[in-house]
Amino acid sequence: MNIALFGPPGAGKGTQAKELSKYYNIPHISTGDILRANVRDGTELGLKAKQYMDKGELVPDEVLIGLIRNRLTEPDCETGYLLDGYPRTIPQADALTGILSDINKPLDAVINIEVSDDELVKRLSGRRSCTCGESYHVVFNPPEKEGVCNACGAELYQRDDDKEEVIRQRLSVYNEKTKPLINYYDDAGILVNIDGTGAVDAVFADICKVMDQFK
Ligand code: ADP
Ligand code: AMP
Repeated sequence: MNIALFGPPGAGKGTQAKELSKYYNIPHISTGDILRANVRDGTELGLKAKQYMDKGELVPDEVLIGLIRNRLTEPDCETGYLLDGYPRTIPQADALTGILSDINKPLDAVINIEVSDDELVKRLSGRRSCTCGESYHVVFNPPEKEGVCNACGAELYQRDDDKEEVIRQRLSVYNEKTKPLINYYDDAGILVNIDGTGAVDAVFADICKVMDQFK
């Protein structure tokens, strides 16, 4: 199954994708996680991306398009993929259509997780992340042991871009550059809207109802 999880920063894409990837046994491809790993490793890509990420801006399209092409042609995508955080602009979506046509794996669905702006700010400002890709929330989804990842035992951290002023900027970039993709995929007939305001398990169940159609 070939799925993209869509939605504003903080909608719950990463939280859901981690579980969905295990449940359906398809790779979770988060461009944000890939970029952050490059920042941590101090690669050329990471050094370039960091200046945009710290400001809450999007990393340039040509960088992301090359990155996603490489990732989608890795062998683990043979059985499908779960995109998280890509595409984020119309040029990225156009490029994706071309890449997926080349590898004959068109998207089955784009699942748009809907959450109000007020809730997004609360979620992002309380988010605590792990380098393994897990994310938690100090109130809504706390780890079993404060400050420690349930999955790998590493110390949790607050992302630099989860500070209040950067959060506002990211939401405004989302509204300007990414939100237009809702109409783009609606016109393509593959958009499915999901209410993302319920508990993590309830949202998971709703997404599974959609994904089960493509098993
Ligand atoms: P995204 O990947 O879309 O940016 P995350 O999955 O990292 O978002 O979730 C953002 C924050 O909201 C995290 O702190 C996460 O624990 C929390 N969160 C995710 N889903 C829910 C939910 N259904 N209800 C409450 N909090 C949630
Ligand atoms: P995320 O982890 O999805 O919230 O992404 C964190 C940051 O990484 C974003 O604010 C952007 O700076 C960058 N990023 C992730 N994915 C993309 C993308 N598809 N296009 C451009 N920038 C991206």
